Amino acid sequence: MSLDKLLSSLKHATREDKELVSRAYAFAQEAHKDHKRYTGEPYFTHLYATAKGLSELGASSAVVAAGLLHDSVEDVGVKSEEIAEKFGEEVRFLVDGVTKLGSYKYQGMLQHAESLRRILVTTAQDARVLLIKLMDRRHNMQTLKNFKPEKKERIAQETLAIYAPIADRLGMSELKRELEDLAFEVLQPDEYEKMLEVVTRERSEQMERLEAMRKDIQKTLGKAGLRAFSTEIRVKGLYSLYKKLERKKYDLSQIYDILAFRVMVPSIPDCYKVLGLVHSLYRPIPGKMKDYIAFQKPNGYQSLHTTVLIGDGLVVEMQIRTREMHERSTRGIASHLAYKSAKTRKGVRDNEKFWFEGLLPLITKKRSVDIFQPSWMKDLEHLQDAEPSEFESTLLEDFFTHRIFVYTPKGEVVDLPLGATPIDFAYAIHSDVGDHASGAKINGKLVQLHHKLVNGSVIEIVISKNAKPSTKWLQFVKTAAAKRKIRHALEAAKQ
Ligand code: MN
Repeated sequence: MSLDKLLSSLKHATREDKELVSRAYAFAQEAHKDHKRYTGEPYFTHLYATAKGLSELGASSAVVAAGLLHDSVEDVGVKSEEIAEKFGEEVRFLVDGVTKLGSYKYQGMLQHAESLRRILVTTAQDARVLLIKLMDRRHNMQTLKNFKPEKKERIAQETLAIYAPIADRLGMSELKRELEDLAFEVLQPDEYEKMLEVVTRERSEQMERLEAMRKDIQKTLGKAGLRAFSTEIRVKGLYSLYKKLERKKYDLSQIYDILAFRVMVPSIPDCYKVLGLVHSLYRPIPGKMKDYIAFQKPNGYQSLHTTVLIGDGLVVEMQIRTREMHERSTRGIASHLAYKSAKTRKGVRDNEKFWFEGLLPLITKKRSVDIFQPSWMKDLEHLQDAEPSEFESTLLEDFFTHRIFVYTPKGEVVDLPLGATPIDFAYAIHSDVGDHASGAKINGKLVQLHHKLVNGSVIEIVISKNAKPSTKWLQFVKTAAAKRKIRHALEAAKQ
């Protein structure tokens, strides 16, 4: 723990950036000097770890400074105005966001939806507040011994129910896994042990054959002229294995991805080339091939998956992806933080562009502060006025269930929940488009307005000046935004 280490972990930092973080460091150390954790450790260790986690994610100096200051308003009575004066509006905005979150305590599954609503409403404006909270939570989970026994379980439950799913939604798979496994160990220690045994056994049984497979693959790819590739063997997270076993009625033979083999290559064409080579080397299991490059997962995940038989009855899942995809699949939204500055230098590459347009941020100006807000988060701003029943049925679904990506005729990406209809699409484009939608074409063919959209379709909305929203639409639209706008138009028409 040292200021120098923290400063050197900052990415693309200018002198002003370093100066801001140094001042926040000194200020937090002083403000928390008599503040101890439950076991007597200085509280500052927690602030340092939170800030360090953020800078390792590639966060800006303002976010790292806010990480150092994130408990100073709530725990040691520093005034929010003082933070604004000393560190600027942006830092204050972030610290205030985290403070609002902290004042809320998780009340168990009964109030699950309400907890999520609080968290999402509070942070919907800016994904960086969520990142600070996630790094704060990660350190608390890593050091659970620092909490009173009666608090441990509540924190672990909240982590499993709320923060791990949020990390997942932000595409931060590495963090999701870490949070899940730390919580799992506290909440279900016996099951945790069992899963650990399964993974350890599988690893010792399979490693030798997987290493032999690695050599075969390296040789085959090398012969085909591929040079700049790397391979790794990944072991499934314990909680995720436990959940999968539950779904497969505890039949281990149904689970092929306890260990998975990964190949990382420079470009997308390389991915398909490797897939072809792998399939000529080993027999693929029918129906297991998934192309998440052409059809990315809603949280931005991209990779080719296939499951192959490598001999002796051993079935192995293979994941093939570019290095950028790999980076994004582990760091998710955070990989954009560091990318932001790189983007201004080099311009956006084509395969990156799709990802950013579909999922990522809109950096907009609001109140003199740059806001970092993915498009789906923007929709969450309206949670504030949602009825509780609507919140549960629609908004939670919008946020956590699978989403699809569809296109405008100009090729712009629109991100919608699974089951969305042309009307949802129309309202996602603009209220006027929704209000005057009279028909829809999918890939050039006319469809009904309640038709369920599928991933990858090109949608054109037919507009007519005389068309109006109908109450029937409310029965089939999926998004909260469309529901709200239809009701609004219906109300307006009555007057
Ligand atoms: Mn904290």
